[in-house]
Amino acid sequence: MNTNRQIIHMDQDAFFVSVEVRKNPSLTGKPVIIGSLSDRGVVASCSYEARKFGIHSAMPARMARMLCPHGIWIRGNMDEYTTASHEITEILKQEVPLIEKASIDEHYIDMTGMDKHYGTLKCAKELRLKVIK
Ligand SMILES: [Mg+2]
Repeated sequence: MNTNRQIIHMDQDAFFVSVEVRKNPSLTGKPVIIGSLSDRGVVASCSYEARKFGIHSAMPARMARMLCPHGIWIRGNMDEYTTASHEITEILKQEVPLIEKASIDEHYIDMTGMDKHYGTLKCAKELRLKVIK
């Protein structure tokens, strides 16, 4: 029995923001905040540029607006994020035999056995580039 399991954990970076930037490239490099600006709204996700101001997911929208008044707010569209997530699942399925979707932006990839022929780290790097592309 092979006790040396090789599992890749692939977690998309600022996934909702990445989907929005793909749709509207002019958002690149800007403090984008996904969420509702209503009184009880919260931040669902935000770009790294927004994180520099201390914003993080689950933060009340009011606080986020104080920390980053020039932030670009987008309500977000879960249907679009779900579709993009399926696209990633399909890319991974074409490349590796055993994957498990853990959440909308996370997958586990079992490389056990394959790693003898193809390094796990090398594979992870290549999968990452394929998804980004
Ligand atoms: Mg993530």
